[in-house]
Amino acid sequence: MNKTLIEPVKKLLSDKSKKILIVSHVNPDGDAIGSSLALFHFLKKTGFENTVSISPNAFPSFLQWLPGSEEIILGNKQSALSSEKIKEADLIFCLDFNDVERTEDLANRLRKARGIKILIDHHPDPKPHFDHVISQVSASSTSEMIYEFIVGMESESIIDKIIAECLYAGIVTDTGSFSYGCNNPRTYEIVANLISLGIDGENIHRLIYDTYSEHRMRLLGLCLSSNLVVMHEHSTAYIFLSASDLKKFNYQEGDTEGVVNYGLSIKGIRLSAIFIERKENIKISFRSEGNLNVNNLARDYFNGGGHKNAAGGNFKDTLENTIRYFESTIKNLSREEFRALEG
Ligand code: 5GP
Ligand code: MN
Repeated sequence: MNKTLIEPVKKLLSDKSKKILIVSHVNPDGDAIGSSLALFHFLKKTGFENTVSISPNAFPSFLQWLPGSEEIILGNKQSALSSEKIKEADLIFCLDFNDVERTEDLANRLRKARGIKILIDHHPDPKPHFDHVISQVSASSTSEMIYEFIVGMESESIIDKIIAECLYAGIVTDTGSFSYGCNNPRTYEIVANLISLGIDGENIHRLIYDTYSEHRMRLLGLCLSSNLVVMHEHSTAYIFLSASDLKKFNYQEGDTEGVVNYGLSIKGIRLSAIFIERKENIKISFRSEGNLNVNNLARDYFNGGGHKNAAGGNFKDTLENTIRYFESTIKNLSREEFRALEG
């Protein structure tokens, strides 16, 4: 991590009495929570007693074992407390997002906040509304960046087992268990160092991936059988879930996490999507392979964004109309062999 980016933040962190807020994006994933908690534990350990972490809404149950997760303030449930913490913060660390809008209901309050905003993130094209920007698109995860940030601020030796568990959880989830976004020796060097600290990587993997409820497993079955559509001639597959499907399988936060990836496991498929019917809109996730840029697809057609190979968005229409719009978009694009999305 570039030292010239860390130096000004180091100066800001010279006074231990500063009030620090850590915030991540709505519908947080393993990287959002893992990076937030790793930074939280690091700051507490180095004497910043007035540090709090806010998540705009609840995180999935498979992250609840993470040390310190019970201390995370939930923006939607503890709105008054969140407002107070946002208002009084001297420094605001924004992790794993590139646009304050990604904090949804907290966005207005964060924009108005007097605290100095420090972005640490690996999404492309961060918005200009941060005071300090530490952005590294090549990083596997924000958690990997937090590892480098901690090393830059102090030294590797300050990283204990608790911090290591949070970082490992973030890296393992954002790389789909080391299957994408991690063709970089540095990611593996960092992971090797975390394992050397005595964390049980195999057990962390089980805690994240092998704790499905029976309902969640059966919902996955539905996604992969009757609710999967394959457009072979367009190298595209998509899955859809209606509100009644979710109800039938007693949907819980996080139950559809990772489902979108399965489309890419079909031979010849380069673009995968999932459409989930929510009260307010249709939530969409995209995944792609190689040069195909779903960040552009999500940004240009589905009010969203993300990374080149993993992005999301939403659409305000019925499930049927959203899918129809998606199909016609893909058919038009693929006439040019996805050229519009290449690059
Ligand atoms: P997921 O599909 O797992 O929800 O998200 C994949 C990636 O896309 C993540 O990096 C996430 O931050 C980003 N993403 C998901 N939904 C949205 C959205 O509505 N807007 C933007 N800008 N990014 C999103
Ligand atoms: Mn991330």
